[in-house]
Amino acid sequence: KAKTKTSKRSTNPRVENIPISHPDRKIFPEAEVTKEQLARFYSEMKDYIIPVVAKRPISTLRCPKGISEKCFFQRNKGSGMSDNIHSIEIAHKDSSHDYMYINSISGLIEFVQLGVIELHPWNVRVDNSEKPDRLIFDLDPGEDVPFEAIKLATLDIKRRLEELGLVSFLKCTGGKGLHVTVPVQRRLDWETAKTFCRNFAKAMVSDTPDAYTINMSKAKRGGKIFLDYLRNDYASTAVMDYSVRARAGAPVAVPLNWNELDGLEAANQFSIDDVLERKNKKQLFEYPSVNQQLTKEVLNQYKS
Ligand code: ATP
Ligand code: MN
Ligand code: MN
Repeated sequence: KAKTKTSKRSTNPRVENIPISHPDRKIFPEAEVTKEQLARFYSEMKDYIIPVVAKRPISTLRCPKGISEKCFFQRNKGSGMSDNIHSIEIAHKDSSHDYMYINSISGLIEFVQLGVIELHPWNVRVDNSEKPDRLIFDLDPGEDVPFEAIKLATLDIKRRLEELGLVSFLKCTGGKGLHVTVPVQRRLDWETAKTFCRNFAKAMVSDTPDAYTINMSKAKRGGKIFLDYLRNDYASTAVMDYSVRARAGAPVAVPLNWNELDGLEAANQFSIDDVLERKNKKQLFEYPSVNQQLTKEVLNQYKS
């Protein structure tokens, strides 16, 4: 293996005009990805990331010393953060919390400077935190569930949604499972959205009880796929498109065209370099604009 030169630089490099301290810190020791490389990756991907993250409350996963050391989730703006990172107080029922959001690449790179690796937006935008603009089915494999079974499950969901007249999108999480996302008009409140998703998942369990479960307890999942409909609630999040995951190998969460499902081998198969190559080859998924809603009939069908 070639020895990499690590001569210390006299000034911190700037990415999107944000100075990056400890640029050569290998925040992914195994994959040998440095803090500066992570910042440059997000900068390269800004045209794909900013549109999907802007104006959404976000949780961040910070690993200031890299993925081998302590990581923690943070959703409220810290004292050391500049105006690139916005803050909004969101009240819900009896409680109220401050949440962060960003509208520009400067905010994203500042996050990286502060040790953020993963970003997890909500399914709402900050101007209306009570009305989700998408629903997400998060498919989590139980022990020994082959990836092919997860792939089939996403197709099952896609087809069921099609029967309801709904278009959905596919994403590999960079972890173990896949997400199916359904864009919707901002008309439903959380209660309605969650009820629909729970009952949709329940119908899948009752049709194919050997394959699926909605039991949260990991122990009881057995060899089944956990249909995690709980992403569809107030303050719930799902991993952002092109977020690098704080896991070995620095895998990336990647939205995919449904016609790519067949060839998919694992949810964590895309590295930073793979994503950049797809970008150069113009192979990144482009979201078509979709304007759809859950009709009264559909909601009635899944009321209980
Ligand atoms: P995998 O494919 O491995 O399941 P995932 O991103 O779907 O990856 P999950 O554990 O299923 O991971 O979690 C689903 C989502 O819930 C995450 O993407 C994240 O947004 C959110 N989440 C999970 N754990 C936490 C946590 N401790 N704090 C905040 N958000 C979390
Ligand atoms: Mn999951
Ligand atoms: Mn989950």
